[in-house]
Amino acid sequence: MADYQLFIDGELCDSSDGDTFATYNPATNEKIADVAKATKDDAVRAITAARKAFDEGPWSKMSGPDRAAKLREIAAKINEHSAELAELEALDGGGTIRKAMMADVPGAANAFEWFARMAEERPDEIQLDGSPFPISENYVRHEPIGVCTGIVPWNFPLIMASWKIAPAIAAGNTSVLKPATFTSLTALKLGQIIAECDLPPGVVNVIAGPGGTVGEELASNPMVDKTAFTGSTEVGRRIMQLASGTVKGCTLELGGKSANIVLDDADLDQAAAAVLWGTFMHGGQVCESGTRALVQRGIYDEFVSLLADRAGKIQLGDQLDMGTDLGPLVHRSQVETVARYVALGREEVGEPITGGSSPDAMPGNLVAENFFQPTIFADVDNSTKIAQEEIFGPVLCVIPFDSDDDAVAIANDSIYGLGGGVQSGNLDRAKAVAAQMRTGTVWVNDYHLIDPARPFGGYKQSGVGRELGVQGYEIYRQVKHVHVNPETSGRDNHFHYALLSGNI
Ligand code: NAP
Ligand code: MG
Repeated sequence: MADYQLFIDGELCDSSDGDTFATYNPATNEKIADVAKATKDDAVRAITAARKAFDEGPWSKMSGPDRAAKLREIAAKINEHSAELAELEALDGGGTIRKAMMADVPGAANAFEWFARMAEERPDEIQLDGSPFPISENYVRHEPIGVCTGIVPWNFPLIMASWKIAPAIAAGNTSVLKPATFTSLTALKLGQIIAECDLPPGVVNVIAGPGGTVGEELASNPMVDKTAFTGSTEVGRRIMQLASGTVKGCTLELGGKSANIVLDDADLDQAAAAVLWGTFMHGGQVCESGTRALVQRGIYDEFVSLLADRAGKIQLGDQLDMGTDLGPLVHRSQVETVARYVALGREEVGEPITGGSSPDAMPGNLVAENFFQPTIFADVDNSTKIAQEEIFGPVLCVIPFDSDDDAVAIANDSIYGLGGGVQSGNLDRAKAVAAQMRTGTVWVNDYHLIDPARPFGGYKQSGVGRELGVQGYEIYRQVKHVHVNPETSGRDNHFHYALLSGNI
């Protein structure tokens, strides 16, 4: 039996062929657990269970408040298991225990709470008045879509799983979720937690397995009505193609190269904190990281030396240690990707002003090559590859600008549009800049703060649709218009039949 099993049709189970894969702690390369590796057949079985649960009810026909009660039960159980979930999240993905305790676990519980509220508060039916047809009654019904699949990346496994499952089931859909292979544990643990909450079988299914087989099935199977994907822009394009076979709804949350604009009236101390936090939180493995700092020329030199000085104080270490600021990156392969970009940066820009490699050594059994130092390139031209391509690691490009209009032009000169920041002492000026940024979220004098009650998503190649907020609930509901002519006999009020013929 695998240490972590799949959750299909209300049962925890091994994969159909009994195969497993190992998952590792990236700080030490030590094995954590064997995980059941779903096959394509398992994916089909999970989708079939979700289809049956949707078509036969009761979940899809229950009232919003009844479903909300179940979501609240899941949120409470996430909080009950918070210590275990936080430790697993940190161990499996390399994020710090502080982040897991302060952001990942409460963030997951809050997502279930928010969408419970949506299920209670959002109307299922809205009457429309002002009909051009004299006596009709018209109303719109908001109905669940059907079977919704979710495919998520490795950087925020538990939160991402919750962002897919919670809105789907709150709105009366059924769900099949696939976590990333590097970090499957907390999503599977969430499956176990949901199993304890006695939802009807098949309403939630969680299956770990390879993107190329399991993921492709979730995005293409004709029984699926909607697919929601978070991950790279490259795989997002593939998901869109697969979903097009049966014209499924598609929500995509993809890559980014967000600009954090520092205006010359900013409090430099506060702005430096916002830029460093905006870039190096979780080693820059965050889709909306502010990895391009645009800094106005008047304050440029002073600000850049402040950044270099402070970045050197970020403590690398064991992610389970409360004193650690930055753990390992998720996997050695990610360190290699980052190192390739840093080598490219040395060619394109020159020597970074701080960082630039893995640490020479780390204490105890920590594997130094799995870590990467916070790295800053200064005087970067926005046209370079390191300023245009998503690195997904602890690498900041600092770019000078002259006027607010220049800052906006540089910020928008990107194929992406996911996040961004404006640091300024003048809120009107900051808001005017924010208004011109072509991006789904802008933080003024802040960064990274995401709340389930606020919409999140991307412009341009950063995605399609929004998650969270009211928008992130409504995107899981179909819209049906019903037109009722209350006259049940006689045809005088059906004068429009004459459009066809006066004789029918
Ligand atoms: P990824 O390679 O795109 O993988 C994401 C998920 O898709 C994983 O579960 C993966 O499974 C699966 N997958 C891979 N190939 C697939 C295919 N052909 N069909 C269906 N599913 C497939 O991304 P990643 O490397 O895990 O994550 C990093 C990327 O995610 C970054 O580019 C980042 O910007 C983006 N991201 C975006 C957001 C956002 O909200 N916009 C949030 C977080 C991350 P396996 O793990 O089995 O390969
Ligand atoms: Mg792991």
